[in-house]
Amino acid sequence: MRIAILKERAAGETRVAATPETVRKFIALGATLSVEAGAGVSASISDSAFAEAGAAMAAQGQAAQGADIVLGVQGPDPAMLAGAKPGALLAAILDPFAQRERVDAYASAGIEALAMEFMPRITRAQSMDVLSSQSNLSGYKAVIAAADTYGRAFPMMMTAAGTITAARLFVMGVGVAGLQAIATARRLGAQVSATDVRSATKEQIESLGAKPVFVEKVAGIEGEGAGGYATEMSEEYQKAQAELVSSHIAKQDIVITTALIPGRPAPRLVSDAQIASMKPGSVIFDLAVAQGGNVEGSVADQLIERHGVKIMGYSNTPAHLPADASALYARNLYNFLSAFWDKEQGGPVLDEEIGNAVRLTQGGRIVNERLLG
Ligand code: NAD
Repeated sequence: MRIAILKERAAGETRVAATPETVRKFIALGATLSVEAGAGVSASISDSAFAEAGAAMAAQGQAAQGADIVLGVQGPDPAMLAGAKPGALLAAILDPFAQRERVDAYASAGIEALAMEFMPRITRAQSMDVLSSQSNLSGYKAVIAAADTYGRAFPMMMTAAGTITAARLFVMGVGVAGLQAIATARRLGAQVSATDVRSATKEQIESLGAKPVFVEKVAGIEGEGAGGYATEMSEEYQKAQAELVSSHIAKQDIVITTALIPGRPAPRLVSDAQIASMKPGSVIFDLAVAQGGNVEGSVADQLIERHGVKIMGYSNTPAHLPADASALYARNLYNFLSAFWDKEQGGPVLDEEIGNAVRLTQGGRIVNERLLG
């Protein structure tokens, strides 16, 4: 089984789909690895580190030659897959709804494309879940970046020159990224509060030592919805949420927003009027900026100043931590493929539950329910 690791070509993408650790592990399963020259450089992994782990280095554009499996972070240009074996597997974050044409091209090329972000949220797939591994790092990075932009300190400090008060930080959306944002801000000494529409998150917020801020008069989502995700809320809920946020946000120094609804634009959580109510020098980090944004006026990869408040957010937050993001992503891919490794076949044979969830194309056709829908 020949596994190819491509160098990422999307603008701003710094991650790589394998590390020397996962190269060694795949070789131990009996695979041969071919890594495109320079694939790991932006994640601080040299070609020689891959070669020492046992990979063959391929010239630029040549890695997919004769591959049975191609691994990427983002979906590659279909032209990069030329020379892969017929029916070769491609595993990457394929962004199928936005990149439908590219998915169609994978189908026409006879590639079996697997969208890693379609991994079902079931217990046995947790170690394969790329959304979790990358969101966790994003939540951390958002707080670090906001702290760096904030013109004051996070912790309370009692000094001979007087006392500095602790920063107040509010996290909106407490999924994987939000939980890590809370934990990171607490470690830095901020006073943290958080909100979500899923009432199950209340206890999680408290267990991290933060204060839950919840709409009480209109019901949110009890427990976990399908796959643990949120759905769009009623108008009544949205109104109650806006009122609650308005009174709370005016007292905050830092706001981190992470709210997402799968398959929909990100919900708008912070309006321009609410930004105007915040103190000058406050910072808002919009982690949903690439999905339409939770914050009015946020622009990906730009520092915007409105009413004296700095608004920021990255189009690709995990790419700002390329070494760790690659290490976790590469392990997700290894955990996924190795869990299905069939000794007789010498390669992965996916089961129905996970295979049907992630498989987009097979036998020249689109086969995924969510795309056929
Ligand atoms: P996400 O990235 O889809 O959304 C981030 C958060 O925003 C969610 O908590 C969501 O409820 C919240 N949100 C949506 N609309 C909102 C609004 N209007 N106001 C406030 N908050 C809003 O979420 P995620 O990080 O993918 O996690 C969702 C859940 O899935 C979590 O409970 C997580 O623990 C669970 N999960 C389970 C597994 C597994 O079992 N394999 C893996 C990963 C995550």
